[in-house]
Amino acid sequence: SVFAVPQHLVIFHVNDTHGHVWPFDDGATGGFSRIATVINEARAEVESEGGDVLFLHAGDVNTGVPESDLLDAVPDFATLHYMGADAMALGNHEFDIDLDTLKMQARVAGFPFLSANFVDRNLFPVFKPYVVKDMGGYSVGILGLTTEQTNVLEPLYLGNNSVESAYYAVKEYMPELEEKSDIQIVLGHLGYYEEGQEPQLPVGYTTSNEVAEGFSNVEVFIDGHTHTLFEEAKVINSTILSSSGDLGKYLGRIDLWIENGRIVDWESKQIKIDDTIEEDPFIKMVADTYKEMGSEELDKPVGYTEVRLNGERADVRSGETNLGHLITDALLWKTNAEVALQNGGGIRASISEGEISYRDVLTVLPFGNTAYTVKLKGSDLKKVADYAATIPDGQGSKLHVAGMTFKVEDGKATNIKVNGVPLVMDKTYSVVTNNYMASGGDGYEMLAGKNGYDTGFVVADVVAEYLEHLGTIEEYQKAKRIIGY
Ligand code: ATP
Ligand code: ZN
Repeated sequence: SVFAVPQHLVIFHVNDTHGHVWPFDDGATGGFSRIATVINEARAEVESEGGDVLFLHAGDVNTGVPESDLLDAVPDFATLHYMGADAMALGNHEFDIDLDTLKMQARVAGFPFLSANFVDRNLFPVFKPYVVKDMGGYSVGILGLTTEQTNVLEPLYLGNNSVESAYYAVKEYMPELEEKSDIQIVLGHLGYYEEGQEPQLPVGYTTSNEVAEGFSNVEVFIDGHTHTLFEEAKVINSTILSSSGDLGKYLGRIDLWIENGRIVDWESKQIKIDDTIEEDPFIKMVADTYKEMGSEELDKPVGYTEVRLNGERADVRSGETNLGHLITDALLWKTNAEVALQNGGGIRASISEGEISYRDVLTVLPFGNTAYTVKLKGSDLKKVADYAATIPDGQGSKLHVAGMTFKVEDGKATNIKVNGVPLVMDKTYSVVTNNYMASGGDGYEMLAGKNGYDTGFVVADVVAEYLEHLGTIEEYQKAKRIIGY
């Protein structure tokens, strides 16, 4: 090599930022403007000494903060663009939106969205599988991967596309990538799971640790999905594996020293993003401009409640809550259906006592789901209740209902009634649910493929309207609808 000293490459990485462009409400945590300051300072220092900096996002930019959700994560991608991001792996939440919106986001971002295993019906990658960056003297290949869990968790907008085996995608693309680059990085939204910690899902899926174990030629694996924070990168086989928690609370930094196209030394750390770091004024300006665009609409009061409406994750994923009742009641009220169905995992926050803003409602229901009506035979409704009865606590699939009651005993549904009248198997009922469940999401396959109708009403807006209709909520204590749940 012509280089007498090793080349210095710094990789900054984040994952699962979920709309958190702005510092947290406490002002002390997170914020892309602070991440920008750290990266800019390092760029100035490292590049002045002839080194290079990469900034990678391991996926799940979408969904989580109303100001971002309202603008289809344009604030996130615009700021990441100006922060000089080099690439992103497609996370499962990049499929909370339709493919056209995702492609719009890619144009705003300007950096490649990578996934070698998100493929069309002919098994061709829909986005780029990898990118090769020429660093002047050596090159870095970055291969993108998406968790196969997406097929189950986010089926809504997949259409004829699917997420195929991440493991086989590595097998397929690594030889090509090794030919074209000196250093091979996998940027994966797969997740790190300790033995026995894997969630029970009706699909097989690849973990980041499996890729590291199986492919020693992957030199660095930047991971996301499980929101794991590696204080120090983990070495598995000979792969350096890291992931930096979630929501931009930490920025991962890996320093590599490269000689003759090989890593000869490295170190890693996590940088805590807090108020000891100044906000980059330019990124702050861009972020705040977007925030203002949405604030008038988001601050709009839509109701008032004297009781807390419970959407706590542990509660809505283990049984009914007053907020689950309210959401399903709103769906019935809006559509005049006989039965409403809502997945607990789609309820993402509580509403505390006092004035309720539109922002509060969007925080509860961030996915932009629409209300979807279907005609279901009594026998299909029985399948819904039977399935619901088998769901263990903690799963997003846990059911919330209105218009229908039943009893759960020993994992079986009994005494199913609609409007107080026992279910008739060959009678047709009008049912409303969200479009996520209607597409078979969360295992509700009995709802998929039915000749339904997407009302186009955004569920969050339906709930906001219902709150306006209710006026002041003094109490929202309804009788249990699923006994024994
Ligand atoms: P990640 O770890 O990928 O960031 P997450 O926080 O969404 O994701 P979980 O908290 O396990 O992961 O939530 C998954 C659950 O979220 C699903 O089981 C489902 O109940 C719910 N969910 C996901 N996407 C949607 C959607 N588009 N509409 C309604 N519910 C959804
Ligand atoms: Zn995530």
